[in-house]
Amino acid sequence: MAAVAVLATGLLGTGLLAAAPAGADPSQLPGGPCIQDDQTESLASVAGYGDVVRELGRIERTSQGRVAVDSAGQSGEGRELWYATVGDGPTTFWLQARIHGNELHSTEAALQILEHLGSSASPAARAIREGLTVVVIPMYNPDGATANIRQSTTPNRIDLNRDWENFAQPESVAFWHLFAELQPELGLDLHHMSSAPRVDGTDDLNQFQIGARTVDPARLLPSQWLVGRQMSEVTIDALSGFGQTHLARYPNIDITNAVLSRMLLGGDAPTGETPLGQDVMRGAIFYEVRSVGQKSNGYLEEIFRVPTMAVLRAAADGSLFDSDTASYDALPYADSGSCGHS
Ligand SMILES: [Zn+2]
Repeated sequence: MAAVAVLATGLLGTGLLAAAPAGADPSQLPGGPCIQDDQTESLASVAGYGDVVRELGRIERTSQGRVAVDSAGQSGEGRELWYATVGDGPTTFWLQARIHGNELHSTEAALQILEHLGSSASPAARAIREGLTVVVIPMYNPDGATANIRQSTTPNRIDLNRDWENFAQPESVAFWHLFAELQPELGLDLHHMSSAPRVDGTDDLNQFQIGARTVDPARLLPSQWLVGRQMSEVTIDALSGFGQTHLARYPNIDITNAVLSRMLLGGDAPTGETPLGQDVMRGAIFYEVRSVGQKSNGYLEEIFRVPTMAVLRAAADGSLFDSDTASYDALPYADSGSCGHS
């Protein structure tokens, strides 16, 4: 199989505010361009576990004390579950990446955001550090990332985003403890989508799905559902002027054992622990960025980064909670046809 040339940007090499190569891909309708059957995914330019360890150490060392790195515990294979904290504001924000090990670019995006927040003297970065305590988990599932699979590996090969009721995996137990200790009020979970469907009713490639709800909104507090939609609205605003990124709404789901679901609902905890209530989290959503694009890694990282930074800024200055939800409420769903086929 022919390896596809990758425009390797290098870890953290793109710079946070680099211009977007928007619309760089040739147009193929419907729903393309697509990864071809004979296309080999190159992982050479994607952050692996060793890169995470090295980059977190470097970012911490050069942050002048703004970034603290710690481990929440160990994975099934014994890797440390690294997280970093930046800022000392009153609102704690949980930013989680790569719970699915083969969803590659969220790790890089999370590291870029952390580096920016830890090193930038800009008023915006300072405002985030003063308004928020941002907890960054660049690689929730290091074993799955190393194996390049969605799930965990040991002792169970399961989807870690379906394990916050059973807590069968040490990763789930460790990150639940961190959640219980920090009690974040806002959460954002970064994913890739498994196919590249179109935006419903159009021939536009769906590049970015917003998951404002992991459970039926009827089970959320009204305030949680509102804040989730407000986070989504800020996301749409941030991406609306950004190249030709087409957005869609994630299909309606009701998955109670997902991480964000249990953070929002409370009520389940590892054996021997006291469950938390539903009043911890004010709101949490997830992003799904188009899957590995090979020729556009920097762009994929950027469309994680741009809306995440916008949500952080809005959370820090409080404007998030004044946002309307009109654009989200009008956002089309994704059409789930496979890439390149109607
Ligand atoms: Zn995922």
